[in-house]
Amino acid sequence: MDLAYIINELGEEREQYFEAVAPPIIQSSNFASKTVADMRYKMKHEEDEYMYSRGNNPTVTIFEKKMAALEGAEHAVAFGSGMGAIAAAVLSQVKAGDHVVCVKRPYTWAKNLMRKFLPRFGVEVTMVDGKDIVNFKEAMRPNTKLLYLESPTSFTFELQDLSAVAAFAKENNCVTIIDNSFASPLHQNPIAFGIDLVVHSCTKYIGGHSDVMGGVVCGSREHINQIFKGEFLTLGAVLSPHDAWLFIRGLRTLPVRMERVAASTHKVVSYLTQHPKVEQVLFPFLPTHPQYELAQRQMRDNSGQFSLYLKAARMEQVDKFCDSLKHFLMAASWGGHESLIFPVSATYASEEMKSDLPFNMVRFYVGLEEPEYLIKDLEQALDKM
Ligand SMILES: *Cc1c(COP(=O)(O)O)cnc(C)c1O
Repeated sequence: MDLAYIINELGEEREQYFEAVAPPIIQSSNFASKTVADMRYKMKHEEDEYMYSRGNNPTVTIFEKKMAALEGAEHAVAFGSGMGAIAAAVLSQVKAGDHVVCVKRPYTWAKNLMRKFLPRFGVEVTMVDGKDIVNFKEAMRPNTKLLYLESPTSFTFELQDLSAVAAFAKENNCVTIIDNSFASPLHQNPIAFGIDLVVHSCTKYIGGHSDVMGGVVCGSREHINQIFKGEFLTLGAVLSPHDAWLFIRGLRTLPVRMERVAASTHKVVSYLTQHPKVEQVLFPFLPTHPQYELAQRQMRDNSGQFSLYLKAARMEQVDKFCDSLKHFLMAASWGGHESLIFPVSATYASEEMKSDLPFNMVRFYVGLEEPEYLIKDLEQALDKM
């Protein structure tokens, strides 16, 4: 399917709504049946019918169809946040007594799900360095049911070899889930490498303007229907029709935004790698990166996130650099129009949230500003450090 067709046409039935170019927001929680027979049919096939919006909603369906197609999946189900999608996908694959192998240092709240929640329900989790397939093999137990991936990972941008992990999981009857938020569906399609379920925090690139939250799980019709009838209807983390509409709008410009972000990030990274106050930039699209070749093989392009280690002996120097930036906002998240930094040392405030990464690491997100404008800002902040 052509990208332009998916983004501009797929799922949109304009003849049903006055040939409007933008789809209507069907702001209704409820859908009526004409006859008892009709209602019985809907009860039996709720996954394909409009009955109640914690279930299907026509505006949300348009978004789901587009996301499934972008990931090369049969089907998708949307959620009110990325974590709603991740929690539902993970819970759908495990029960008490099962074991999960999870890549080390996934997104913070995915880690919380693995470390704090799953053990409460009798599910054990082993975290492994995902760079080497051997680590997955060594962590396997007879009761391992799920391999959970995030490639590249959220702070250190380490990759897992998706086709190798997927093939190994299939040999061992394990399901694979990947958080593909980093790459967006434009820069990496894990299903093509044999991964079973792909989740996104749509809050990031799909929305693209830091003004809406949502998530999605893409996969086979069988897996998605299982999640729909189970975790989705039961835990109830639904996406609102209005927010689905904002995501459809976000998708219209996703290709131009990703192209811009990818090009600007290369410029900003090249500036930083040669700066004497920068120790190292963690970015798998640098030819010197140990996973450069793997990145080229399984991803189409880079995104806007990378991390660096500053040449700083004390935390105050890092603070000085971060506080001096005028145009990079200091915040969590990424994927919007605005460039961001996230100093790792900010997590040191509480034992609960503290990262095991060093204080001189800062994560960056390059947004839609002119790269020269951002580089000028970096230059003056590095001078002050
Ligand atoms: C933000 C994020 C999430 C969580 O998404 P929400 O929409 O905030 O719930 C999951 N994974 C990654 C990699 C993220 O960056």
